[in-house]
Amino acid sequence: MGERALIRCINGWLGTASPPPPAGMGDDCAVLPQPHGSPLLTVDPVVYGRHFDDSLPPEQTGAKLLKRNLSDIAAMGGRPVSAVVSLILSPNVSLNWLERFFNGLKVCALTYKTQIVGGDISATDGRSFSATLTLYGEAERPVVRHGAAPGDHVAVTGSLGGSLLGKHAAFVPRLNEGLWLAARPEVKAMMDLTDGLAKDLTAMLHPDICARLDISSVPIDAAAHARSEQDGLSALEHACCDGEDYELLTILDGQTDLAPLMEAWKKDFELSLSLIGRVAEADSIDDAGHMIDDATDKPLFPNGGYQHLSGQ
Ligand SMILES: [Mg+2]
Repeated sequence: MGERALIRCINGWLGTASPPPPAGMGDDCAVLPQPHGSPLLTVDPVVYGRHFDDSLPPEQTGAKLLKRNLSDIAAMGGRPVSAVVSLILSPNVSLNWLERFFNGLKVCALTYKTQIVGGDISATDGRSFSATLTLYGEAERPVVRHGAAPGDHVAVTGSLGGSLLGKHAAFVPRLNEGLWLAARPEVKAMMDLTDGLAKDLTAMLHPDICARLDISSVPIDAAAHARSEQDGLSALEHACCDGEDYELLTILDGQTDLAPLMEAWKKDFELSLSLIGRVAEADSIDDAGHMIDDATDKPLFPNGGYQHLSGQ
């Protein structure tokens, strides 16, 4: 099938998730609406063999492509607006697989009110498929990663670990929670957990500070316990190092009483918001920028978390 015919198919598969030009596909560029607040831009791919394999249904692969990006918008306290998708296709990808992939993407786009407004297709040899989605969004008050200071609280939504057993694809991007947190003055910084708490939390700490965790407060997912039984690593290690949790990690102001925030959260969400530790001055070079077990004073999984570009 030629490129034009395939693009016509994709347009049909996306249906109402793809508006007509000039707002959507069919012109040289899509014309986007003016953002409310600050415009946000993020990009994330799904790559065969890295983010999915033959065990993941194509619908879930298409949804995961958008949800990975939605999680980044959530982490800024933003709303998604529109997206473009770029495909790299080898000849062995069937039309049926692609239709199901785009169907999953469409359902997800309609669920999260994101319009697919353009894209591109390139051919490649060999057995491979990758899709890259660039997502445009907006935020009234974008919440960045930096700003943690000694005394602040570390909080996390949901539960962590064992994502390979299903959550890596079945997760719900925390858009409502991100918007809610961004509207609270207690929230100083935020990010989404993609590479594991052990790695991601350190990205929020400048080199003079550390995070002292109460490890009994870390919300460990049942899947982390299941993984622990399979491989003998502790459930805590799975919770801190597996990655692909897609929960929100946030820094809350240590100078204010958090009781009103925690009460309001419980009224609005069934999802848990757990206080797992405090930001502190680093006592030594070993502590600097790391997570420390507050009970033992030892660094927790200092090299843990998903390492990109490291092979398997
Ligand atoms: Mg992120």
